[in-house]
Amino acid sequence: MPIRVRFAPSPTGDLHVGGARTALFNWLMARKTGGKFVLRVEDTDGARNTAEAAAGILKGMRWLGLDWDEGPEVGGDCGPYFQSQRKDIYDAYFKKLEDAGRVYAEENGAMRFKFSRTAITVHDLVCGDVTFAPTEEPDMTIRRPDGSYIFHFVNVVDDIEMRISHVIRGEDHLSNTWKHIDLFNAFGATPPTYAHIPLILNPDGTKMSKRDEGSAIEHSYMNAGFLPAAVFNYLCLLGWTPKAAGEKLSRQELVMLFDAEEIHSSNAKFDMKKALWFNAQYLRELNAEELLRLAKPFLTAKGLQWSDDAMAAAAVHSVREKVSLLTELPEWVHYFFREDFPFEADVVAKLKAKPENGGLLKAAADLLGQSTEWTEPSVHDAVEAAAKSFSVKPGAMMPLLRFALSGQSRGPGVTTIAHLIGKEKTLARIQRALGAALGE
Ligand code: GLU
Repeated sequence: MPIRVRFAPSPTGDLHVGGARTALFNWLMARKTGGKFVLRVEDTDGARNTAEAAAGILKGMRWLGLDWDEGPEVGGDCGPYFQSQRKDIYDAYFKKLEDAGRVYAEENGAMRFKFSRTAITVHDLVCGDVTFAPTEEPDMTIRRPDGSYIFHFVNVVDDIEMRISHVIRGEDHLSNTWKHIDLFNAFGATPPTYAHIPLILNPDGTKMSKRDEGSAIEHSYMNAGFLPAAVFNYLCLLGWTPKAAGEKLSRQELVMLFDAEEIHSSNAKFDMKKALWFNAQYLRELNAEELLRLAKPFLTAKGLQWSDDAMAAAAVHSVREKVSLLTELPEWVHYFFREDFPFEADVVAKLKAKPENGGLLKAAADLLGQSTEWTEPSVHDAVEAAAKSFSVKPGAMMPLLRFALSGQSRGPGVTTIAHLIGKEKTLARIQRALGAALGE
C-alpha cells in the first residue's frame, strides 16, 4: 500500500510549534518513503475557523519548507482539501451508516452513531498497543440538527477518502482514537496505522500553549529572525533523537534518518536557548549572498539602504558569528550603511579621558590618507605605522579607529570596516569623530 500521510490543521489561529512539528514528522515520513504528504484543512467549525488562520498556517509551512503533494493551492485527486467544501461526500458516507443501521435520530434532530461497544486496540507506532475496554459512553452525535457533521466523523471519512495509510498526530487525540476505529470498522474500511506523538512542554513542565514563549511559528520564529533550516532541525528533536552523531542535521540527513518508531513516548521539553543555539550555528554557515538575502527584510525594516549588494553582503557576513538572530544584525551593521550613526556615550567618555587620543587618530588619518592601495593589509600597515610614530602598540590604536568608523566598541575587525566602507568614508569618519566626540 502506498504511504499517504496528512497534516490536518483546524484553522483557529496561528501555526504553533506543536502543529508545525506534527506537520514536520508527517512530511519526513512521506519524503523518507517516497509517499505522499497531503494537507487537509479541517474547517468545519464555521464559528471558530477563519480563512486568515488557514492562510497563516500555509505560510508557516511554506516558510519551513514543508511542501505538500496534495492540498490547497496544489490540488490533487482527493480534493477539495477544505472540509467546508466536502459536504456531499459526508452526506454520502452518512447514508452508508444509515443503510448499515448504525445511526439513529435524537429528539432534536441530531444523529447519533451506535458504538460497537467492543474492546478496541490501537496499535500505535509510538505508544505501543493501547486497548480501550467496551465503552460505557453514550452513543456519539455525528450530525448536528443543522446537518453539519462533527469532527470525529469528517476526520475519519476524509482519512478513508484520501486513502491515508498513517496518521501521525498529537497525543491529545489518542484517547478518542477508539471512536475513530469504531467508525472505520462501521464503514468496512481498514484503519490507518497510528503514531501519536508526545506533547511539547514548557521548560517548567507545564503544557505549552499558544501564549507561551516560542509557541507561534510566524511571531516567534519567522518575524524574530530565525532561519527556517534551524527551526526545522530544532523541531525534529522535540520528541525524536535521530540515531546519528550530533544533533545538527541537514534536511536531507533528517529525511534519511527518520523513523516514526523512534519517536519518544515521553513528553518533549521546549528550550528556547537551544533553538537560539541552533540558529546561531546555521547563521554562521551561510555564505555572504545568502545571508544578505535572508537579512534584507530585517535591515530594510530598520531603514537601512544600500546600492552595493557586494558590500552589504560582506558587511553582514563580517558579523555573522556575533549574532544568533537575523533581527540582531541591524545594530551590528547599521554604520556600514549611513554616515550619521551615533557614537556610544561610554566610548566617548573613555576617549575624552585620554588627551593623546586625538593626536593618534589624526596620525592614522594622515597615514591612511597617503595610502594609494586600499586593501585590508594596506589599511593595517598604515594603522601600524601611525601607532609606531606615537610609540604605542597597534592594539591601542584599533579601539580608537573602531570608534571613529562605527561609533561603537564592538564589531568586526577594524581593517574590515575600513576596507568595506572605502578610503573616502574612512577619512571623513575620522574627521567626524575628532570633531564630534573628541571636541577637536
Ligand atoms: N484537526 C485536528 C487537529 O487539528 C486533526 C486531528 C488529526 O490529525 O487527526 O487537531
